[in-house]
Amino acid sequence: MRLLFLFLDGVGLGADNPGENPLAATQLPVVETLLEGGKLVAGQAPIETQQATLLELDACLNVPGIPQSASGQATLLTGINVPALLGEHYGPKPNRPIQAILENGNLFTTLKRAGKKCGLLNAFPPGYFQFLDSGRRLPGAIAMAALHAGLKLKTRQDLMEGKAFSADFTGIGWREVLGFDDAPLMNPREAGEKLAWIARDYDFAMFEHWSTDVAGHRQDPDEAKEILITLDSVLGGLTEQWQNKEGLILITSDHGNIETMDSRRHTTNPVPCLLIGDLELRRKFSQDLHNLAGIYPAILRLLLQPEEVD
Ligand SMILES: [Zn+2]
Repeated sequence: MRLLFLFLDGVGLGADNPGENPLAATQLPVVETLLEGGKLVAGQAPIETQQATLLELDACLNVPGIPQSASGQATLLTGINVPALLGEHYGPKPNRPIQAILENGNLFTTLKRAGKKCGLLNAFPPGYFQFLDSGRRLPGAIAMAALHAGLKLKTRQDLMEGKAFSADFTGIGWREVLGFDDAPLMNPREAGEKLAWIARDYDFAMFEHWSTDVAGHRQDPDEAKEILITLDSVLGGLTEQWQNKEGLILITSDHGNIETMDSRRHTTNPVPCLLIGDLELRRKFSQDLHNLAGIYPAILRLLLQPEEVD
């Protein structure tokens, strides 16, 4: 039994209005097939089809203000309502209290302690490690959680060897933004297939994609559309390779953003929770799952025996 957690930063369920919401304006054939005509917009969930389940998760967590990445991700990673504990939504990078929460225990540490093999599949460029070493830059909540579990963040070498992924899936960013002309390139479909293959090395594999949030902040509908089309193709390759009996694919987010081109800011919209895999597993995972804090216990319920879950 394995879980692949594909985390998408800044994706909410917004109005079914093509003028404002790229998720309503863009044809996403793989998502539409998975949801049997359903779309990633407000008012559709819950949907349960032959292949997938779509739920909506509250990201506001009864705390006023606009959800932010560090507190939202830390909630996903710990099951603690971090914004409520802090009294605010906070981000993008973890502040001291969030760092302490992640250090105290998180998804990676819990699963690793239970003997599960965990991996964060993103490849990080050399400059990222230099910044971390210099103390001038903090890792995001997800990388921080993985580090606290003693996992090694994957490197350029891992990317070259096909053991890790570029955050944009295709590797174009490594070539064009980071200047590594020899970075491997894949089309999105190949990247999706590869994601399924690499996930097979782990009981719990996580991948963090943040272009969705960046596009939301930039308010560029064309960029948003392109990212969504890429993602849809990645999902096509991934679902073609994935064997339902091997486990679940979980796709969710920390807060809304890309679904509203009317504002550069995050939104208070619920986020999608898209589950792909065996129906029984999807139902087991979905029990009592209503907000970001429900993801951690759902993952433990799926991957651990009842006596291992405290
Ligand atoms: Zn953001």
